[in-house]
Amino acid sequence: MKRMIYLGLLFAVLLCMAACGKEQETTDQEGSAAKRTEEESVKKDSLPGENTDILVAYFSCTGTTKKLAGYAAEYLNADLHEIRPEDPYTEEDLDYNTSDSRANEEQNDPSARPAVAGNVEDMGKYRTVVLAYPIWWGEAPKIISTFLESYDFSGKTIVPFCTSHSSGIGSSDKNLHALVDDSAKWKDGKRFAAGASESEITGWLDDMGIQPFAEKAGQEVSERAFDFNTKTVTLNSGYPMPINGLGTYSLTGDTCVKSVSEALKRGVRLIDTAYMYGNEAEVGKAVRESGIPREKIFVITKLYPSQFDEPEKAIDEALKKLDIGYIDMMLLHHPGTGDVEAYKAMEQAVEDGKIRSIGLSNWYVEELEEFLPQVNITPALVQNEIHPYYQENNVIPYIHNLGIVVQGWYPLGGRGHTAELLGDKTISEIAKAHGKSSAQVILRWNLQKGVVVIPGSSNPDHIQENTELYDFELTDEEMAQINALDRNEKHDWY
Ligand code: NAP
Repeated sequence: MKRMIYLGLLFAVLLCMAACGKEQETTDQEGSAAKRTEEESVKKDSLPGENTDILVAYFSCTGTTKKLAGYAAEYLNADLHEIRPEDPYTEEDLDYNTSDSRANEEQNDPSARPAVAGNVEDMGKYRTVVLAYPIWWGEAPKIISTFLESYDFSGKTIVPFCTSHSSGIGSSDKNLHALVDDSAKWKDGKRFAAGASESEITGWLDDMGIQPFAEKAGQEVSERAFDFNTKTVTLNSGYPMPINGLGTYSLTGDTCVKSVSEALKRGVRLIDTAYMYGNEAEVGKAVRESGIPREKIFVITKLYPSQFDEPEKAIDEALKKLDIGYIDMMLLHHPGTGDVEAYKAMEQAVEDGKIRSIGLSNWYVEELEEFLPQVNITPALVQNEIHPYYQENNVIPYIHNLGIVVQGWYPLGGRGHTAELLGDKTISEIAKAHGKSSAQVILRWNLQKGVVVIPGSSNPDHIQENTELYDFELTDEEMAQINALDRNEKHDWY
């Protein structure tokens, strides 16, 4: 009986090999025949600074996958990236019928990671990665594992497809999930025959909800919608940012280190600091000592107007004080003389890899209208005073419509003002109805308006409370009641 099963299996394997060998042959013919059309139709390789948030990355030995990846890139207005082996595969390497051929050995070795030549210039800016590969022995070639393990895919959407004559995608896509961060969102994969048409590819992308980049231009507001499951928002720079964090204004020395450490222990992953707060070194120390991988934490700092005359030096000083490798987000703290030049220095620092995203603080409609035409990179974030007594209801939609995320400072009214706000009758009643605190209701109100919150606190109980914002929802009526509390009452001068 065992012998029968063994023979059956052997026959199935031989059949599969023959089919794969055939695929190789056909593919080769197609590869050369299709070359001209491919070169005509395939979109140029990725250009730095190009306006797209989609990357189509493919591995192709014979040209089949390249052609289909080209269709996808063309349709999506995406950048196209070839995953190239440092040591190209020869015909013998790919011989399916030789048990010790290179491809055969790699596929049988779970730890094989063939080296990749070159890299994706700025993976951070892409929110969607379409990943295309041929099927080798029922699995993605091991070079796909090398590629996936080489970048941070946190928060990105990955859309896999394979090309093959005979084998389906099987579990080849699911088997790749463990290689990237849990926060990556995988779409269901699909197998395409080598001769698949452009409309088959584009129809499938449509079904998956993957739209061409240009068509999304008018949807910026929903594009920056908060994801209440991952508790993040994707910035226009492509990076995900947590939607609740810790503010550190007036927290200095050990108090600052302890507060940030307590917040990180309690799952907070967004920390707001500034040169002016005099605590960048303390924030950096708490981040370094947390034991949490650096890329899981998002740190914002700011340049003060007194630093605008030497912005490059100021950026390097911030990097040095923080000592956490790179800065996730740098803002200009206030408008002031030399702000455009300071912003341009931040743009250069983005290019140099020192800073990932940049933005502004205390910029309102008029200031933005004057400032934006003078710079190249649209700010990813604007941080302004926002609380129930100062709501900025005209400013927030204006900023959102530019595809920029809004973050509120003094969410609880700011030190010295919290008692009145937290004791507000309307807010207290809503809090009671939900079994929540006034602070939690105010923070939730912000989140439901699309405003990121960074309450400041040195009290671990408050820090904990300020993270528990996702197990209740304010009704439209409750939102309207809090909206009605606006007094246009600023709690600071800027
Ligand atoms: P805030 O968050 O409105 O209020 C902080 C005060 O609220 C502290 O006294 C804190 O006391 C208390 N608090 C926090 N959580 C509480 C809770 N759950 N229940 C009761 N009380 C609570 O003011 P902020 O810290 O000044 O502002 C937030 C952050 O915005 C700043 O830390 C800073 O990062 C940023 N900011 C930016 C600008 C700018 O110009 N860009 C300006 C100001 C502030 P405990 O310590 O006792 O918890």
